[in-house]
Amino acid sequence: MAEAHPLMLYNTLTRRKEAFRPIDPANVRMYVCGPTVYDYAHIGNARPVIVFDVLFRLLRHIYGAEHVTYVRNITDVDDKINARAAEEGVSIRELTERTAKQFHEDISALGVLPPTVEPRATEHIPEMKALIEALVANGHAYVAEDHVLFHVPSMKDYGRLSNRSLEEMEAGARVEVAPYKKDPMDFVLWKPSKAGEPSWPSPCGIAAPGRPGWHIECSAMAERHLGQVFDIHGGGIDLVFPHHENEIAQSRCAHGMPVMARFWLHNGFLQVEGEKMSKSLGNFVTINELLRERPADQKWWGGVMRLAMLSTHYRQPINWSRKGLAEAEAALTRWAKQYEFAEVAAEPQLTQRIANHLCNDLNTPGAIAELHAMAKAAESGSKHEAQELIVNALFLGLPVDEYIAQHQIDDMQMALVNERIDARLEARKAKNFKEADRIRDELAAMGIALKDSKDPKTGEITTTWEVRAPSTTEASR
Ligand code: AMP
Ligand code: ZN
Repeated sequence: MAEAHPLMLYNTLTRRKEAFRPIDPANVRMYVCGPTVYDYAHIGNARPVIVFDVLFRLLRHIYGAEHVTYVRNITDVDDKINARAAEEGVSIRELTERTAKQFHEDISALGVLPPTVEPRATEHIPEMKALIEALVANGHAYVAEDHVLFHVPSMKDYGRLSNRSLEEMEAGARVEVAPYKKDPMDFVLWKPSKAGEPSWPSPCGIAAPGRPGWHIECSAMAERHLGQVFDIHGGGIDLVFPHHENEIAQSRCAHGMPVMARFWLHNGFLQVEGEKMSKSLGNFVTINELLRERPADQKWWGGVMRLAMLSTHYRQPINWSRKGLAEAEAALTRWAKQYEFAEVAAEPQLTQRIANHLCNDLNTPGAIAELHAMAKAAESGSKHEAQELIVNALFLGLPVDEYIAQHQIDDMQMALVNERIDARLEARKAKNFKEADRIRDELAAMGIALKDSKDPKTGEITTTWEVRAPSTTEASR
């Protein structure tokens, strides 16, 4: 299968597109840096989640679902978490649990498959300490004032991923350098905890309790679940330096390996008016607030966001706009209209025409253009094209079956619904409230929500209705 369509991926490490060949086709391994859980994820954070979900689906297609291990971590030790918990007066555990749960709800509405493993930093402290001790033992790290620091000049080819030389980086380093650092580029592997902050017994004979630095968390989780060398490491472009550079330094130097991951993939920024969407700039929209705009059909609306996201190639910046969302909704609606005509079991499937685009460095805009062409042919009466369209859209995680499920009701059950509403009004007039409530419940079970309003002048009751998802999950704040 892998030979049929060679998968080409742009590798940040070599700065070119390369044919992807896994180390072990029976276990293709990918790590993606996940969220730091202290607040709602914004729509920019959703980009890597969606992009690498598409890659996960493609790898499963090529190598078989049971031959791909996808690890996406949760960072639950971090200064921002400590600060937020203190601010809200809740425990760190409570904050991280609540935020992680919210994150899962939000991204599942975006059609994202769960990763194979979702490790948490706090559950990998022993692995982090083992890595830190190995780095100190082999001279790549040192202890100073209860900190453990990675000594950057100890690694000859530090900076390869971000394509910068050590000299360049040192010249650009901030003037204010902690006095215990031997070199301005040295970074923290472990640091002492202040009172009230989470802490663990320290490695390397340090008496004061402490906690890990951010970079070592990913090195430890990746190694535990994927081994010392694995196939693909992903994340947003902002992580190339310093986070991924430092992950590489730690993992390679601990074990004397030539690489950590063979392919490094990075998504471009989601931008608002030319600037990266970020918490610190305040120009962000959370996934959750967008989803809440359409509580009755979250899955559909989440699919619209997903399609809007995939309409731009993952390495290009996206300018996030309402117009982009509206265009995506128009496209998805048009495709979903072919669902019934296609008469397919809602089985996702990737066929050659779409696979060709995805295998070309995840060319989702190309795949989407192809879906548009299929829709056009389907509208001219080609059932085969309608089928291609539907199965491939479903493969991409787009809910083309969802819109029909909801809107079918308009066409097919309108008469029935109106008849039940009339019966209910009759029952109410006859003061048979039990029967009126029974009809209301019967309709609710069909996903029809009723709303009564009284004309202030005549006192007459009119009833309107709308389609609701059978159960709307109240987001847990
Ligand atoms: P963070 O919680 O900030 O570490 O971000 C989690 C993931 O989202 C990382 O892979 C980031 O690179 C990515 N990310 C954050 N902001 C954006 C953005 N505006 N556009 C695309 N990716 C982003
Ligand atoms: Zn990471």
